[in-house]
Amino acid sequence: MKAELAVIGGTGLHEMISEGESWDSNTSYGKPSSIITLGKIGGKNVAFLSRHGKSHTIPPHKVPYIANMLALSQIGVRKVLATTAVGSLRADYKPGDVVFFDQFVNMTSGRVDTFFDGPEVRHQEMAEPYCSGMRNVLIREAKALDMRYHETGTVVVINGPRFSTRAESRFYAHQGFDTISMTPYPEITLAREKGMCYAGIGLVTDYDVGMEGDTNVKPVTFAEVQKIFGKNVEVVKKLINAAVPKILERPLQCSCTASSE
Ligand SMILES: [Zn+2]
Repeated sequence: MKAELAVIGGTGLHEMISEGESWDSNTSYGKPSSIITLGKIGGKNVAFLSRHGKSHTIPPHKVPYIANMLALSQIGVRKVLATTAVGSLRADYKPGDVVFFDQFVNMTSGRVDTFFDGPEVRHQEMAEPYCSGMRNVLIREAKALDMRYHETGTVVVINGPRFSTRAESRFYAHQGFDTISMTPYPEITLAREKGMCYAGIGLVTDYDVGMEGDTNVKPVTFAEVQKIFGKNVEVVKKLINAAVPKILERPLQCSCTASSE
């Protein structure tokens, strides 16, 4: 099994590729979240991994991020497209919008977040964590699909599985962070340690709790959130189907590889 690109599906996106070869890997860090399936998008081999397991049984703080990234690197993956559900920390990032992350802030704890635990010592550069080349393709394709999207966004990553208090949520919003999630870290840093390009797609499901009372924010019901999310997942699948062939057709213009050496 070989694939240059992998899609990591978060909540709602765990059935992107159904047919094709599958691999029940076991790495030196243990088993990945799910069997890795191989399918075709635009005639290209694409690996697919469900972050929370095929039946969505692995909570965010228990995802075996390091086994996932090692398994993907073992089948030759050099590019990762990862989706994740996010809460919004600002009025203009609305439920139903898609965000192409350019920065993260890590507020998680206790997660295994490096391949360089000694004796080899390495300090990975992380100033620009997300691949600008992949992001540019996603922006072009999102525009062509007439999606509501944000070209950049900072995601603050909390440990979970609990949500934030109102005070925590307001604190994050006041820091200028745009969205909040439980899974983008340490997936991204592990990918970068393996020299991979990584793009993160955030699907805004709702406003975070600290946004309640903001006069620009209309309250949304759980039923509305579910409806928005279901529609959003379909749009993101279309986006991935359109973007993957473009990402793979020629070398990306980015600085990810240079900064990982
Ligand atoms: Zn890159």
